[in-house]
Amino acid sequence: MAKVRSRDTGPELAMRRALHAAGLRYRLHSRDVPGHPDIVFRSRRIALFIHGCFWHRHPGCKATRVPKSGISFWLGKFEENMARDRKVEASLVTAGWNVIVVWECEVLNPALVADVVAQIRHAPQFSRRR
Ligand SMILES: [Zn+2]
Repeated sequence: MAKVRSRDTGPELAMRRALHAAGLRYRLHSRDVPGHPDIVFRSRRIALFIHGCFWHRHPGCKATRVPKSGISFWLGKFEENMARDRKVEASLVTAGWNVIVVWECEVLNPALVADVVAQIRHAPQFSRRR
């Protein structure tokens, strides 16, 4: 249960394929960026997270049911995860990053994925040489 985030999950791969198809280039799990976002667009200073609905508690999503046994354990775990997400997001914003969160279930929606791709494509790019 210690492992909250898994790499190369289906939804993350699907998102990456859509980004790649749109000509966007990115880095994965950059260690030098707060919270090691799943996908990083350095020149646009965008950090993209693909959040698992269950672990990160997608509001109003069917995938956020609470397991029937050990309820207090789960609620504590979820609270920890959400607190960590808030902290990571705050440190990214403080460091000048734009944060985009895509929920796992949303990656199944092509229109929504297209919106995210468009949002990233139209974001201003900063030259690192300035
Ligand atoms: Zn969801």
